[in-house]
Amino acid sequence: MTAALDLDVRSQFPQLVDSPGVAYLDSAATAQKPQAVLDAVMTYLTSENANVARGTYPWANRTTTRIGQAGDQLRRFLDDPSPETSGVHFVSGTSEGLRTVALDWLPTVLRDGDEIIVPFADHSANLVPWLDAAELLRRQGTHVVVRPMPYDSAQDYDVARLPVGPRTRLIAATHVHHVYGNDMNVHRLRAAAGPDIPICLDAAQSFGHLPLSVRDLDVDFVVFSGHKAMALPGIGAVWARNRRGPTFAPAGWSGTPNTAGIVSLAAAMDWLSSVGLSRISSSIVALGARLTAGLATLRSYEVLGCQDSLTAESTVQRRHGIVTFRHREIGSNDLGFILAAEGLLVRADGHCQGTDGEKTSSVRVSLHVYNTAEEVDRLLATLSALDS
Ligand code: PLP
Repeated sequence: MTAALDLDVRSQFPQLVDSPGVAYLDSAATAQKPQAVLDAVMTYLTSENANVARGTYPWANRTTTRIGQAGDQLRRFLDDPSPETSGVHFVSGTSEGLRTVALDWLPTVLRDGDEIIVPFADHSANLVPWLDAAELLRRQGTHVVVRPMPYDSAQDYDVARLPVGPRTRLIAATHVHHVYGNDMNVHRLRAAAGPDIPICLDAAQSFGHLPLSVRDLDVDFVVFSGHKAMALPGIGAVWARNRRGPTFAPAGWSGTPNTAGIVSLAAAMDWLSSVGLSRISSSIVALGARLTAGLATLRSYEVLGCQDSLTAESTVQRRHGIVTFRHREIGSNDLGFILAAEGLLVRADGHCQGTDGEKTSSVRVSLHVYNTAEEVDRLLATLSALDS
């Protein structure tokens, strides 16, 4: 059982190798980097560094080629069915990417009285830009109705009540929730929305964690951060299907892009593909399930989210490697410090949630490819010692 859970790649992560007693359980904040990514960046910066699209010499040409290739590689990584009509815009991460869609693209398609549906209980990066866009338009005299994505039980989105209408111009959704780990059933969302309404997917917690096929999901935008998927911080992208509104270039950016970051992203996609996204996803889900099963045996802990209410009708498919909980007596911040003293590195306290979300503080464990069943068991043993 343990062997199936563990992908045995920890030895490829120098920071983890250097810290043998540490279980890094905070990958939803940022992921550790494999040697292959570090090597690619070092090679680039020590032998080919140059700016993009503005040189007449080999280094500059090579950088320009690499960035174009990274855009193509990203399309393949996302199983893009129509690469000739899609766009990739490199940004610093999900936050900037969502702002790019909200403030550069959305205002060009909205007219007075149009509506957008946005998630109020997800990461604030997937709420504030849409509200800002609506406010900007309001000041210019265009009134846009912002409707919340409805949910019924704790964080299970209720697509049966999706408030779509003839004036709906965009649905913003989150693929995997950053606190509850809910894996949104995007097929159900698309079915409820109908074929014509653009869907923008915040893939911050799913890109690089599970196979993500835009062919299969039929979404219009995918926005993600490289640093949560083994690449460097400061790089991410917007993938756009370009079927409505102004189009995104095949590989675009503003000013001087984060060239080393793009190189790291290309290397990270190679590395993730070599391990296999399905294997990574299965391992993450299984480790999370092991943790929730263990927590369920402890009386002092309350797990947040909807893992107990999954039904055939549920919009959520499963919990994807993020488990958030509270101790009934010990404050979450204190618990975070207690766990850190044992080498168990978790996220404690609040979690950048939007306005409707669970506000109270909690402890979040988020798992990735280098985590092991032994680490989860070690965490459970420490939590168990604090059970009463
Ligand atoms: N969306 C979700 C679901 C996230 O989890 C995060 C970060 O945790 C973000 C957006 C923002 O990502 P970044 O800080 O990399 O821009």
